[in-house]
Amino acid sequence: SWSGEQKSSGPALAGVKGHELAKAALETAVLDAELRSYGMSLATYLGAVRERVPAGVSVGIRPSIGELLDDVEGYLADGYVRIKLKIEPGWDLEPVRAVRERFGEAVPLQVDANAAYTLADAEHLRRLDAFGLLLVEEPLAGGDLYGHARLQQRLATPVCLDESLHNARDTASAIALDACRAVNVKPARVGGYLEARRVHDVAYAHGVPVWCGGMLETGIGRAANLALAALPGCTLPGDTSASARYFAEDLTEPFVLTDGHLPVPKGPGIGVHPLPEPLHRFTTSRRALYAT
Ligand SMILES: [Mg+2]
Repeated sequence: SWSGEQKSSGPALAGVKGHELAKAALETAVLDAELRSYGMSLATYLGAVRERVPAGVSVGIRPSIGELLDDVEGYLADGYVRIKLKIEPGWDLEPVRAVRERFGEAVPLQVDANAAYTLADAEHLRRLDAFGLLLVEEPLAGGDLYGHARLQQRLATPVCLDESLHNARDTASAIALDACRAVNVKPARVGGYLEARRVHDVAYAHGVPVWCGGMLETGIGRAANLALAALPGCTLPGDTSASARYFAEDLTEPFVLTDGHLPVPKGPGIGVHPLPEPLHRFTTSRRALYAT
């Protein structure tokens, strides 16, 4: 199924359509092995400019405002420097207002709608402008760049795209259309760190702020995400949370917040090793692959 269409990954994987998560895993493993042979860190290879990155946290939709406020209070006490609230119709203005009233205007706050609205909700979403949000993420259907551009015309809050951006080409189109004024880059979503770097570069060249999202990575992916989050265009805190946000036990030494930041791994490759014992315990199947 080769075609002339531009693909999201490098040439070696261009023949495989879709399967971005699998391609990202394979490409990262090869990149890690290659960089280890040079003794170079992924952060250095990608062009990182920071030794630590500020950590934000994503807070899901909760059964009640009270439980949401308790969660946010706990994350702020942990040191997280930015709060992201998931929103949907029926759970948007009230939770945002409640968090603002309880924790003040100074808390960096943003929302993620995960494609839960339509353009008919534009006037409703415009009411979010009153709360001084950093951005509203993916309010409309994934891939609807035209709709997001129409919405952005009516919102003061920057629209940020996530699911809609599959590669650097999409990102360039979205920016040219003014469909987004911030970019969430997730290496697993775009097929790997090489394409993620290109997404970053396109946005950075246009002065559009970038931040690194998360897809529930173990320490293995978290380490690599921190390298990406240290690039110069990543000027907004990412969802690069501590391991404890999602895992009671990680496959690597856990990433721990210090003063609201996580360290960018400095060692060769992704800079961390899987711990043999938990890796063995959590492995469900094995297959050996050999280069031909
Ligand atoms: Mg998102």
